[in-house]
Amino acid sequence: EAFNTAVAGAKALNAFIVETPEHALAAADAADAARAAGEAPKPLAGVPIGMKDLFATKGVQTTAASHILEGFTPTYESTVSQKLWDAGAGMLGKLNLDQFAMGSSNETSFFGNVISPWRRKDGGNAALTPGGSSGGSASAIAARLCPAATGTDTGGSIRQPAAFVGISGIKPTYGRCSRWGTVAFASSLDQAGPMARDVTDCAIMLEAMSGFDPKDATSLDLPVPAWEAGLSPDMTGKRIGIPKEYRVDGMPAEIEALWQQGIEWMRDAGAEIVEVSLPHTKYALPAYYIVAPAEASSNLARYDGVRFGQRELPEGANLQDMYAATRAAGFGDEVKRRILIGTYVLSAGFYDAYYTQAQKVRTLIAQDFEKAWAVCDLLLTPTAPSAAFALGEKQADPLAMYLNDVFTVPASLAGLPAMSVPGGLDGAGLPLGLQVIGRPLDEQGVLNAGLAIE
Ligand code: GLN
Repeated sequence: EAFNTAVAGAKALNAFIVETPEHALAAADAADAARAAGEAPKPLAGVPIGMKDLFATKGVQTTAASHILEGFTPTYESTVSQKLWDAGAGMLGKLNLDQFAMGSSNETSFFGNVISPWRRKDGGNAALTPGGSSGGSASAIAARLCPAATGTDTGGSIRQPAAFVGISGIKPTYGRCSRWGTVAFASSLDQAGPMARDVTDCAIMLEAMSGFDPKDATSLDLPVPAWEAGLSPDMTGKRIGIPKEYRVDGMPAEIEALWQQGIEWMRDAGAEIVEVSLPHTKYALPAYYIVAPAEASSNLARYDGVRFGQRELPEGANLQDMYAATRAAGFGDEVKRRILIGTYVLSAGFYDAYYTQAQKVRTLIAQDFEKAWAVCDLLLTPTAPSAAFALGEKQADPLAMYLNDVFTVPASLAGLPAMSVPGGLDGAGLPLGLQVIGRPLDEQGVLNAGLAIE
């Protein structure tokens, strides 16, 4: 009875879209066989992980949490998931997410929202969002359904959900993890990365997931560093920058206090604290919400009812009618909103006013970071401007939802490695995250600072 109650509780989180226990068991059997044969264990031998349902998995339905891809079963494996299987891991199932990774609360999924295993200690039993878009990954790890999972981060989708449920997650430098076989949202921003209980597990996962892939034109042709072996919480000689523009209006006092606590932990670990300025920070969110939808509107053109998944073919329909009917029925409201914004900002009359302007702002934001690296080695900020909010709280107001990404999008626009680690609990007993941002390719520095906080 207790077992059935636990299973029902786990299922109520709605973290998985499909379960694949046979895949995880096969990996466990392979690990046992290798051990019996006296072989050295692989880094993730037999570890049962969760796979965000944005990664194509051969023979296993891959939906991006959209109706338009329901029933789509890839005949190929994404590079990132293949690398994890090569490292010995097995898959427990495909994890729920915001539809096409568009969202910050997991409420845009066609398969229903995920809920967080956390509850406010003062607020009755109201269900909370696990954040998004990697909400299934976050909830499953926080509820101890799996020790680690993949995530993807276009504007914060690894870091913000990690912060909301009290786990760790790292978005590496753009290009570290191959995008091949990952459903595209905004190609110049999309990066895969791990989410796990702690920094060490993130390092182990990231090592397995990273590496050059000739099938992705933006993949970095660089060796994968031994991040796990290089872990050290000693911050002696490191300068930690505190960007003053992240002290935004209306930031809750508890987030401010958490940030101060993080600064103290860095000092205790031997770091020197320096105030820095990233003057274009306030333009990051508007630039992101132009660039990301623009790229999405182009990427999502492939879902036309011909090549993938669902097709709507009304009586007497011609080809155009079929496209329109398929998209009308297949895409959710938030996806349609992004496609409309994207096609608008890319249209001939508005391109210069919006898209070109946003690209210029993106360059200015990257330059802000470059200037900061002259005076500091890493940056420390809160991950999100709030703790997890209640389901439905921001759903009717897209702008309020977008504002939750204020601290995560700048590093995405600049392609920098960034991590969220748990910093403590707020007055309601909910987890809050601290974000560490590093120079390009300095995942080691980011992980080490995360370890110092942890
Ligand atoms: N919340 C952001 C958005 O909706 C980021 C999503 C992501 O990183 N995939 O675009």
